[in-house]
Amino acid sequence: MNVRVLIDGPSELVFDYAVPTGVSVRAGCRVRVPLRRKHATGTVLAVVEPAQADFGLREVEALIDPEPLVTPALLRMGEWIAGYYGCGIETVIRSLLPEAVRSEENSAKTRRVAVLAKQPDAEAMEKLARRAPRQHVILSILNHAPENRMAVTELGDGANAALKALEKSGLVRIESEEVRRDPEAEGLDEVVGSSPLQLNEGQQAALEAIVQSLETETPAPILLLGVTGSGKTEVYLQAAQAVLDRGKTVLVLVPEISLTPQTVRRFKSRFAAMQDKVAVLHSHLSQGERFDEWHRIRKGQARIVIGARSAVFAPLPDLGLILVDEEHENTYKQESVPRYHGRDVAVLRASFEKCSIVLGSATPSLESWHNTQLKKYQVVRLDQRADGQSMPMVRVVDMRLEATKRKGGPAMLSDKLRSALEQRLEKGEQSILFLNRRGFARSLQCPQCGHVCQCPHCAVALTYHRSDERLVCHVCGHQAIVPRKCPECKDPAIILQGYGTQKVEEVLAKVLPTAKIARIDADAMRRKHALRDTLNAFKSHKIDVLIGTQMIAKGLHFPNVTLVGILNADLGLHIPDFRAGERTFQLITQVAGRAGRGDLEGEVIVQTFTPHSPSIQFARRHDFDGFSEQEMEFRRQFGFPPFGHCAVLTARSNHERRAEFTLQTLHLRLKEDLPSGITLGEVLPSPLVRAHGQYRFQITLRSRQARPLTRHVQAVLAKTPLPEDVTVVFDMDAQSFS
Ligand code: ADP
Ligand code: ZN
Repeated sequence: MNVRVLIDGPSELVFDYAVPTGVSVRAGCRVRVPLRRKHATGTVLAVVEPAQADFGLREVEALIDPEPLVTPALLRMGEWIAGYYGCGIETVIRSLLPEAVRSEENSAKTRRVAVLAKQPDAEAMEKLARRAPRQHVILSILNHAPENRMAVTELGDGANAALKALEKSGLVRIESEEVRRDPEAEGLDEVVGSSPLQLNEGQQAALEAIVQSLETETPAPILLLGVTGSGKTEVYLQAAQAVLDRGKTVLVLVPEISLTPQTVRRFKSRFAAMQDKVAVLHSHLSQGERFDEWHRIRKGQARIVIGARSAVFAPLPDLGLILVDEEHENTYKQESVPRYHGRDVAVLRASFEKCSIVLGSATPSLESWHNTQLKKYQVVRLDQRADGQSMPMVRVVDMRLEATKRKGGPAMLSDKLRSALEQRLEKGEQSILFLNRRGFARSLQCPQCGHVCQCPHCAVALTYHRSDERLVCHVCGHQAIVPRKCPECKDPAIILQGYGTQKVEEVLAKVLPTAKIARIDADAMRRKHALRDTLNAFKSHKIDVLIGTQMIAKGLHFPNVTLVGILNADLGLHIPDFRAGERTFQLITQVAGRAGRGDLEGEVIVQTFTPHSPSIQFARRHDFDGFSEQEMEFRRQFGFPPFGHCAVLTARSNHERRAEFTLQTLHLRLKEDLPSGITLGEVLPSPLVRAHGQYRFQITLRSRQARPLTRHVQAVLAKTPLPEDVTVVFDMDAQSFS
């Protein structure tokens, strides 16, 4: 038997080793191996069949732990991912066992602690005070310390000699204790406990459906379709409690930890009494923290784990329930190898572990919706807002009419939105202005010749940044100074096209001079805790109008917000992506859902140049059924998901011709004995034809079934040698077509 071993350390070396007879090693085991003239530790990625050429392979020196680090269910999941998405099992194991977890260097830290062993009597203390003042001080510190113990390092420099003496006289004991590097220790404000709310009828029914599924041997996934503000989170919380009561654990997936602070908080405060039993997997955990959290989870010490996409691999034992919040979000798809979809892998994990899974959303993906129609998923609906409020009134403003009203191009704020903002300010209510950023940025364009300042490395327009008078590429970060005249025709009248959040803030400050305005976008939120601080200020009404991009579309709940303005609703509609309509519908519904979540009624104003587009009209009426029905028809006609799978094969290179030629070669080979049921698209330049200096070409493939497609592409890739300077990427169930 041979094993393929991933060596610990940042360089990701993989070597094969022979296994001595009599030793049994499984994938996921930790081993010690020889490496050049030294020794190293590593993780077994796979057990492999010995090949002839392997004769004389070096042997594994020792098995560190006979039990694999990865559970069999997770390993099976890893194999499934490798086969489905067409990538090596090694890359999947790297996700299952992040580098931080594999590396010994990050292993648990211990510290020395001084513990008061015996309470000295008054006489002894007095004697010490005179003869050994240092010992006296240490004793009185320990006497007042919590649990009469304190880390040796905290007792100050030079405490060692005194401690030794105290240890000798039996007054103090030195112990060694494990230090948990608590990622939450600094920065977060105190979490106040919350108690369960009295559920309304709909919520009660939803909870019962989930509880029933907990009692089922192999439960079907549950799709919780609840309008914004219908109280899905309260259902999650009480379902989680029911799982804990049964002695099992809960995994909660959210689209992005940093953008869903309120959801994370609600879990923390509901389970505040069991504090360290809730683990939050942030992307900015240090290596040491990640190591500690992972092992805490694996040992079953953390009973609830909250995290983004990669948390789907959290090694929770006794998994009882997986909750996927905002299941439609495309951030669940990983955009680097392995290109798995977190939600789909979660559904798979639930079936492997025979546990319950709830997918929640106000705007479910058509993939999940289709599964409810096929009766693979059970659907539970919450059609009313939890607090009895009605859904906000949505008005659509035709910006083409606004444009003809005044000269000099369309306004940023329609009259309607402007007066609505003024009204809120007068009444002391708050507003949110949403600026769609999809495929959009504020760029420089010459009004004479139409020239747009482009990034020299990427096929996108450079974005104008006012604060430092610079042009910046939002794909690769390239920076340029702002030209004084058009680089093409030398006309000095080069002007700004479109607008960004900074511009909105400027205009708003003029229109509403007394309003307190703040902005949430990637730029403004660079400072640590900036997002949290701004949201807190908004919550305590230190801000009247909050301007934001996609960052504020998710899960925020502010009862005093009665107006939401969507400045450019249709921008995402004009991109070459069959999900463009779905994304626009989801975005408008989610953003609109931020309005009227308290006792006051909400209003939403949607500015658009295409007011009759179905995505906008169905969103206006909060009509998911209507939208999904007509969108399904379109998908069915063209064989797009959920009626089959869609994958993208991309080739990129610094040399345009080589990228194109490589993909054409692959196209020819893919066409040879193309399995039936697969539709092979043409070789086309990617919508983003150049990024990071590389040219990009792509083929879109469609297939009723996923596996045959992946297998066919893998087989062709395996027998087609690629030029060194061309990278080919296969993306199954692609979410992004740029
Ligand atoms: P969703 O996650 O579906 O958007 P939330 O869980 O944020 O909705 O709930 C919206 C608001 O309604 C929250 O303030 C929540 O505390 C409140 N809420 C939820 N359930 C109830 C209930 N049963 N009774 C009263 N208020 C509730
Ligand atoms: Zn660029």
